Amino acid sequence: MATELVFRNDPYARSCQAAVVGMDSRGLVLDRTVFYPTGGGQPGDTGVLRLADGSALRVSDALKGEAPDTVAHVLEPGTTPPTPGTRLTAEIDWERRHRHMRMHTCLHLLSAVLPYPVTGGQVGADRGRLDFDIPEAILEKEELTRKLNELVARDDAVSQRWISDAELAAQPELVKTMAVKPPTGQGKVRLIEVAGLDLQPCGGTHVARTGEIGKVEVAKIEKKGRINRRVVVAFVEAE
Ligand SMILES: [Zn+2]
Repeated sequence: MATELVFRNDPYARSCQAAVVGMDSRGLVLDRTVFYPTGGGQPGDTGVLRLADGSALRVSDALKGEAPDTVAHVLEPGTTPPTPGTRLTAEIDWERRHRHMRMHTCLHLLSAVLPYPVTGGQVGADRGRLDFDIPEAILEKEELTRKLNELVARDDAVSQRWISDAELAAQPELVKTMAVKPPTGQGKVRLIEVAGLDLQPCGGTHVARTGEIGKVEVAKIEKKGRINRRVVVAFVEAE
């Protein structure tokens, strides 16, 4: 049975009611969840599972489950897993997840500012990075920082829609990230659109408007191999 992915249509949901399906080799599987499982360069969520008796089980990570389209909630070692059918409330560490959402959307902006093939990427709570296939050292930190913050300040809407695998196959130019394959295979794939700026398949969680990202800076540009440039972006926190 597939896990209902509450975060997919409502990335702002911090908790949901769920029932235990069972344990697989990776963790506890629920019938529905707000926990994003590690994938597409975005870390899995952490949080707690609250039981009816008031106890809470710590979730140290969320992974794709063994069965297709399931999520495994990784419990701390020594935890006795609740039995199938147990009803509970699944609750993510919202502050950490929201930072992942802000950074993930920011990396989509970066891929629009730098229209080069992306060979890798990673979202983090404090920083994120994209690796680009760029032949020359043409990048300049201050200019990239300025362009990114201009796009943040525009406060463009971020939205999602679905297309079929066949429609995506007919528009290969939509796929920017060679290292992270779009989540196809279910017959349809989700596109994330930053209004008027960027459109690409992505399974991650995003903020609703670019203004929510907040101020960012390009912290580092590194040479990774002959043609790869790694661009590291960090949040600039207000005092
Ligand atoms: Zn993405």
